[in-house]
Amino acid sequence: MRYELIRSRRKTVAAQVKDGKLVVRAPLFMSRRDIDAFLEMNSARIERMMEKARARERELAEAEKLTEGELADLVKRGKEVFPERAAHYARLIGVDFGRISVRKQRTRWGSCSPKGDLSFNCLLLLAPPEVLDSVVVHELCHRKRMDHSKRFYDEVLRVFPDYRECRKWLNEHGPKLLAKLEK
Ligand SMILES: [Zn+2]
Repeated sequence: MRYELIRSRRKTVAAQVKDGKLVVRAPLFMSRRDIDAFLEMNSARIERMMEKARARERELAEAEKLTEGELADLVKRGKEVFPERAAHYARLIGVDFGRISVRKQRTRWGSCSPKGDLSFNCLLLLAPPEVLDSVVVHELCHRKRMDHSKRFYDEVLRVFPDYRECRKWLNEHGPKLLAKLEK
């Protein structure tokens, strides 16, 4: 079995699939023989993990791409939806914001500049409304703190108690939405 080995000060050995490849994390001084024995013992589970990852990759590769027209329509709708949602939550959080831009982006859902300009990914309009809202709240809370500290998330959760469920949805289904953009 081919794999990438990452050693660290961890106490146990663990296998995961990343970008279709098997990655094994092991303690600094664990012997190769012990690592291979672990993989051998867990080979059925690892094979299932690899198969699942490959199926997911196929699914993403086959995702139906949005046309230029459909994307333009999402951006247009976003220019109405995001300012409205941002105004609503800015009142609840007690902050202001600058300009809002809506873009098709491959890597991020939203951002907040130090000056308070907000940017949102138009693909969020294909997610459930509460997921879109959770991204709006996240970016607006950066008007209070520009970090991802516990105090930042305390504020996010105060305003938006379902934040974690929405993030979970985005982690799980977000890649499928991003795969709708042409490379
Ligand atoms: Zn952030």
